[in-house]
This record gives sequence, structure tokens and C-alpha cells, in this order.
Amino acid sequence: MQILKGDLSNIKGIPPSGLCVGVHRAGAVHQKMVAKYGDHLAVWSLRPDLDFIAFKKEGLGEQGIRSTNDMESINASDERLIYGVRGAPPEVREKARQKGLTLLADATCPFVTQQEEAELSLLEAGCHLVVLSSRTHHGIPRLQGIARDKGKEVFIVEREEDVDTIRLTRFEPIGVIVQTTFWMETYKKIIARILERFANVQIRNTACIDSLQRLPEVEKLARRDLHCWRMRLVLLSRSRKRRN
Ligand code: SF4
Repeated sequence: MQILKGDLSNIKGIPPSGLCVGVHRAGAVHQKMVAKYGDHLAVWSLRPDLDFIAFKKEGLGEQGIRSTNDMESINASDERLIYGVRGAPPEVREKARQKGLTLLADATCPFVTQQEEAELSLLEAGCHLVVLSSRTHHGIPRLQGIARDKGKEVFIVEREEDVDTIRLTRFEPIGVIVQTTFWMETYKKIIARILERFANVQIRNTACIDSLQRLPEVEKLARRDLHCWRMRLVLLSRSRKRRN
């Protein structure tokens, strides 16, 4: 995988459409819940949602809705629960049930739900699960939790060479899913390697269409920014040479 490092901090939203559909939808769910139930609302999130438009731009943070990744901190007698856009692992959902929390809404992105459904169907078909993803992606604990519930391990594959480290034999059944925002060019190369090594493979392309559409835009922006920085460095070094 080629890593392009550009500074996109001055870019307001990624063209063509700014925030993704899952985040927009979650923001709408949060706003609706605030309008309907007032305050004392807690959003449980794999990464607390404070950066989201609904919290920042609409000022919901000051209107009695807060975001946390600590289920223990949510008080059943005082607060009601909403799940954030990135979903929640089964053990978190179970803890919420045990605490007797009232679940008002689940704002999990439909693409994330679709990914969980694909994982479950592969596990139920008896497959070992392979997830194409960065190891540090926040969605990994959720996918691992689902597999653990079914008594299965998750093999995470980030690069082509990781395929060789999967501790399974050629004819054991494997089911492959992909992190929703994974880079599609890397995905294709890894799938080719998996098909070379394994004979019994089921693949579900669980990449989200929204991120597929915007990744080329991100690449263009990163390249453009990289080009600007190179030009600045060239100009800086020329002006230094002139001064010396
Ligand atoms: S899966 Fe796609 S649409 Fe859903 S939150 Fe992630 S990037 Fe957004």
C-alpha cells in the first residue's frame, strides 16, 4: 500500500459531498432524540461522537446529550441510551441490558450493520473469519466480539504478506469481509493472494459505497497538498541558496 501524507487540515469537507451518509444520518437521529426527549441522553460510541456535526455545529453538546465510550458511566436512573454511528460490540450491548438502560435509538450506520450481518452469515456457515482492515481500526473490537460470541477467531489482514500468517490449511473454509473504509486497490491485491492460498473462500464486499466514492477524492487532495509542500520546500531551499 502506498501511503500519501498530505495536510488536509485546511480542507472543509471532502468533495463531492462533505460528511458521509452514515454520519449525517446519525446526526439526524441525535437531533430527533433531543427534540423528542429533551436532555439526559447518552450516546455510547466506539469513538465518542463529539466531533460530529450534530454535536458541534448544532450545539447539541449544550443541550443535554453527551457522548461516551464508558458504559459504566451511564446511569440507568438518570440517563437514556443511544448507540453511535460506529455501532457497539455484543458485550457492550449486553452490559447495557444488564444495567437496565433504556435504549432510545440505535444510530449505527446501515453499512456497519450490513457488515455485521455478512460476518454473522459467514460464521454461521462455518467459515473462519478474515477481515481486511487496519489493525488499529476502531471497528475491530466490534467484529472480534461478534466472532467471539460464535466461538471463532478473527484473522486481520492489513497487507498482502499478512495472508501468509493465517494459521489455516488450504481446504478449511474462510469467509472474507472488508472494513467499510478500506482502500479498494489494496483489497483487490489481498483478495488475489487469498485466492491463491485458499481453496474454500467466500467473499462479501462490505466496503461502504460512500467511502468508495470519496477515497479517490482524498487521494487527489493528498497528492495536491503533497505537491504544494514540495513546491514550498523547493522555493525555500532556493531562497536560502540565494541568501548564502
Ligand atoms: S460506513 Fe461509510 S457511511 Fe457509514 S459511517 Fe463509515 S464512512 Fe460513513
